[in-house]
Amino acid sequence: MKLWYWILDLLFPPKCALCRRILEKNETDFCANCRKDSPLFPELPGNMHPSGKSRLQFLDSFTAVWYYKENVRNGILRLKFHGGTALAAPYGRMLAMKLYQCRRESFDLITWVPVSTKRRRKRGYDQAELLARSVGAELGYKPVCLLKKLRDNPAQSGLRGEQRRANVLGVYGFTGKTDLHGKRILLIDDVFTTGATAEECARVLKTAGASSVHCGAVAAAQKEE
Ligand SMILES: [Zn+2]
Repeated sequence: MKLWYWILDLLFPPKCALCRRILEKNETDFCANCRKDSPLFPELPGNMHPSGKSRLQFLDSFTAVWYYKENVRNGILRLKFHGGTALAAPYGRMLAMKLYQCRRESFDLITWVPVSTKRRRKRGYDQAELLARSVGAELGYKPVCLLKKLRDNPAQSGLRGEQRRANVLGVYGFTGKTDLHGKRILLIDDVFTTGATAEECARVLKTAGASSVHCGAVAAAQKEE
């Protein structure tokens, strides 16, 4: 078995999940430079919005590993649009570590912001689900599918503030398969930009009875657009 791994390493040497450089023997998931230089997203107090300008409305708190820029942005785009599913595991491990360090409260359920069935079929996977599985594996939870995307709305990119909120209103529904009353939920997503999508998901989960919803994302935008 060890020989097999040795051959695999020779054929497909493990690469940094951010800059894609071949890793040194003592490096895991990320190279030393990316670990040191990738801009970490700060720990936010209470329900502060990641923009730093307002409070979150339905979400109770927010945690992200990095700022959404440079290698982090490229990596997330690879994960979402170019079949880079192998990146979900290392990104999820980083997010789990950050959640473990920043959030003292525990959760009852882990779920994710889903893509539509149509998009999932076309893409072959749901990147936020893969991230939730990786986070869950680290924190000791099996993610539960609590939300479904009811229709394909136009992409959020290119829209601003109010338009983003209007664009996601009523787009997500509760699957109805789990009793959410009094449950503390960890909602996983890849990127948090203005938060319109995650807030709408939190609204749906709270309407279904959840007592709190915390959002964990791999990256967050620097400023509210
Ligand atoms: Zn790197």
